[in-house]
Amino acid sequence: MGSAALWQLARHGNHVLGVDRYDPPHALGSTHGRTRIIREAYFEHPSYVPLVRRAYDLWAETEQAAGEQLFLRTRGLMIGHETGEIVPGSVASAREHDIPHELLSAGELRKRFPALRPDDGMIALLERRAGILFPEAIVRAQLRLAVESGAELRTNTRVVGWESSPSGVHVDLDPGGSVEARQLVLAAGPWMADLVQQSAIPLMGERQTTHWFLPLDPTGLSPQECPITIWDCPDGPPFYTFPDLGDGVKIAIHHGGPFAHPDSIDRGITPDDERAVRERLAQYLPGANGALSDAAVCIYTNTTDSHFVIDWLHDDRVLVVSACSGHGFKFASAVGELVAQLIAGEGPAFDISLFALDRFAEDPGEQRT
Ligand SMILES: Cc1cc2nc3c(=O)[nH]c(=O)nc-3n(C[C@H](O)[C@H](O)[C@H](O)COP(=O)(O)OP(=O)(O)OC[C@H]3O[C@@H](n4cnc5c(N)ncnc54)[C@H](O)[C@@H]3O)c2cc1C
Repeated sequence: MGSAALWQLARHGNHVLGVDRYDPPHALGSTHGRTRIIREAYFEHPSYVPLVRRAYDLWAETEQAAGEQLFLRTRGLMIGHETGEIVPGSVASAREHDIPHELLSAGELRKRFPALRPDDGMIALLERRAGILFPEAIVRAQLRLAVESGAELRTNTRVVGWESSPSGVHVDLDPGGSVEARQLVLAAGPWMADLVQQSAIPLMGERQTTHWFLPLDPTGLSPQECPITIWDCPDGPPFYTFPDLGDGVKIAIHHGGPFAHPDSIDRGITPDDERAVRERLAQYLPGANGALSDAAVCIYTNTTDSHFVIDWLHDDRVLVVSACSGHGFKFASAVGELVAQLIAGEGPAFDISLFALDRFAEDPGEQRT
C-alpha cells in the first residue's frame, strides 16, 4: 500500500517522502510469498468490484511503466456449496456488475480441471480475468517508479511518533531526527496498531502460513490448465491454491490463525501447519500432495468486519490506509491512486464508505475528536 501510494503521489506531482523501517520488499510484514490472487467476482462485497476493475487497469499501466511482467492471467475458480458464503457471494457480485462467468457442477469441474476433486454437490464459479500478481516484483517496481518520478525514499528508518497540528504533521524518525510534513499517510500494515490508538481502530494481527508442494502428478496443475482456486469447505475455514509456477503448488488456509504481532510472531512452520494443508490437498488436489518445497509465515491485519480502513484520522492531515484483512493486495494500485486523490483534496473516484473509521465508533462522529 505504501509503495503504491508513494508512486501515485509522486507521479501526480507531490513532494513526497517514503519511510520504511525495513528495506521493502521484505518478508516480515504482509507482502511476501511470491504470489497474490486477483479476482473480480468479489464474494466479500459487490462494492469492491469497481475498485478492483480500476486496479486491473493500473496494474497494466504499472507493468508497462516497469517493463516487466507483474500479472499472470490464470482464470479463477470459487468452489463450494450453494449454502456457503463464497460461491453465492461471487455470483451476486458477478450478476450485479455483469462479470462474465460460468457456473459449473462438481462433474463439470472434474472433467474440465482434472487435478481438482470437488465433493459431490459442490459447485463453482469460473471467472476469466482472475490470476496472479507478483508482490515482491510489484513493490520493487513501484518504489523504483516513485523515485524516478521524484519521490525521496528512506529505508531502514522507523517512524517512532507523530503529532498533527493545524499547520501540519511533525514526524519523529529513527534514525534521522524528524520531518515536518503537510500531511501524513500511515500504511504500516500489521504494525499499524503501534502508530494509532487501538481505541481509534480495533485491529487484530493474525498469523498465517503458506506452503509449496512439488506435485506427485503434474497433470492439470500448470497455470495454463489450473486456475487459482478458493475452496469454501463445510468443515473449516476456506483455503486457496495457486497452480505450479515451477516452484510447486502453493496452498494456504484463509483465516483461523492465532493472534499475532509482527515483532513477536512465531515464524517457524510447525508439523500442525503442514498437516492442515496436506489434509486439504489429499482430499481436493491429490496430485499436488508431494514433497514440501517451501513454506512461509505471513500476517493478516484484520478489522472486526474484514473490510479495509481508508480514512482520515485527523481532519485532512493524517490518512490511514490499512487493515486489508487478508485480501488487500489486489487493490493496492487503485488504493495508491485513491490516496493521491484524497491528499489532493479531491473526492475519491469510488464509494469508500465501507472503509470509513466511524463504523467502529459507538457514536458515529466521535471518532474524529
Ligand atoms: C499469507 C497471505 C496471503 C495473502 N493473499 C492475498 C491474495 O491472494 N490476494 C490479495 O489481494 N491479498 C492477499 N493478502 C493480503 C495482502 O497481501 C495484504 O493486505 C497487503 O499486502 C498488505 O500490505 P500493507 O502495505 O498494508 O502491509 P505491509 O506489506 O506489511 O507493509 C507495511 C510496511 O510498513 C512498514 N512499517 C511498519 N511500521 C513502520 C514504522 N513504524 N516506521 C516505518 N515503517 C513501518 C513495514 O516495514 C512494512 O514494509 C495476503 C496476505 C497474507 C499475509
